Amino acid sequence: MSNLNELFAEIRNEFPALTQKVHGKKLFYLDSGATTLKPKSVIDRIAHFYLYESSNVHRGAHYLADIATQGFEGARHKIASFLGAGQVEEIVFVRGTTEGVNFVANTWGLNNLKAGDEILITIMEHHANIVPWQMVAEKVGAKVVAVDILENGDLDVEDFKKKLNSKTKMVAFTASSNVLGTNTDVVGLTKLAHAVGAKVFVDGAQIVSQQKVDVKAWDVDFFVFSAHKLFGPFGFGALYGKKEILETLPPYQGGGSMISKVTIEKTTYNDVPTRFEAGTPHIEGAIGTAAAIEFVEKIGFDKIHAYEMDLLKYATDKLLEVPDLKIYGTSKDKGPLVSFNLKGAHHSDVGQILDQEGVAVRAGHHCTQPLMARLGVPGTVRASFSVYNSREDVDALVKAVVKARELLL
Ligand code: PMP
Repeated sequence: MSNLNELFAEIRNEFPALTQKVHGKKLFYLDSGATTLKPKSVIDRIAHFYLYESSNVHRGAHYLADIATQGFEGARHKIASFLGAGQVEEIVFVRGTTEGVNFVANTWGLNNLKAGDEILITIMEHHANIVPWQMVAEKVGAKVVAVDILENGDLDVEDFKKKLNSKTKMVAFTASSNVLGTNTDVVGLTKLAHAVGAKVFVDGAQIVSQQKVDVKAWDVDFFVFSAHKLFGPFGFGALYGKKEILETLPPYQGGGSMISKVTIEKTTYNDVPTRFEAGTPHIEGAIGTAAAIEFVEKIGFDKIHAYEMDLLKYATDKLLEVPDLKIYGTSKDKGPLVSFNLKGAHHSDVGQILDQEGVAVRAGHHCTQPLMARLGVPGTVRASFSVYNSREDVDALVKAVVKARELLL
């Protein structure tokens, strides 16, 4: 472990944001579940694009447009290989996880769902993987059904099997809960879903920074992630879809780039994936994401996983020593985060006291109101860890929680 600690101490130096103070205190950033900080290599790559390459893609017959296009399409290749996609055409650029769900709900969903069909989700989904399905269900007369969880926060697989049936046409679930940390059995659930003829959509927002994704081996039909949770830029993400499914989908938005030929009477559309990317795209988003993937791959997921799991165990053990503290989500297969409450204290008050101590966490419902209702709480405090955190951050967190308990209880 000591070698790993040294390696990650150096990695921490690559994050300029961590050199500043907040409220006059050292910053302990424990909110990577909301967004990761950005390493200097990613920031520099984006700055380089704006300084020297800023040009539109796909259309200019000049040097800079070529450079920009190479960077942009090069990112598609990088993302395809990062996700384990078979073909580069299977990667559609989107604004993030939320847009990815809306895209599939509005294209695949509107074309394939009909009255009486069911969309199976889980009670621990982020609103991004609930609301778009509800919206399309309302339009076509389909129904959204949610699978329950067990006491430790694991998905209730028996309930999943009970609720999955021949009416289920889409199974949409997260690979990793942003509140409980629970990692779901993507391969197992996908097999069960395919056995009844349903398609599978996986929300990869939280898993993508934790472990190697392999969409082809997992055999999922759709997978989406946001770059900003993977050390990359805001407002950019990628959706994977099996090519044979993407090819059946109508355009999502109309405009430039997505067309093959336009006359006033009729438009024919471009091939997949360009058909789904109307207008000038988020060019530096794609280029910055490629740099973020390089950052992650240089470290390697084996090391990231080992380091983050060690931090998670350390944090869990230390927090459990604090009296009156309850942890939500104790699955054996968990991402690097801890959600908790101090019994009798409001999560927002705890969050505020932590902030005054320089400890940045998220306190609230985490865009998972159905899960909060299931847990019977209005919200939780969530500390989430990443490659730049260390035991020092955890110690600062625990010290601040002890202080919050003294002040609030
Ligand atoms: N799903 C999960 C599990 C998430 O954690 C988040 C972000 N909190 C989202 C979806 C939505 O991601 P974005 O806001 O980047 O679209």
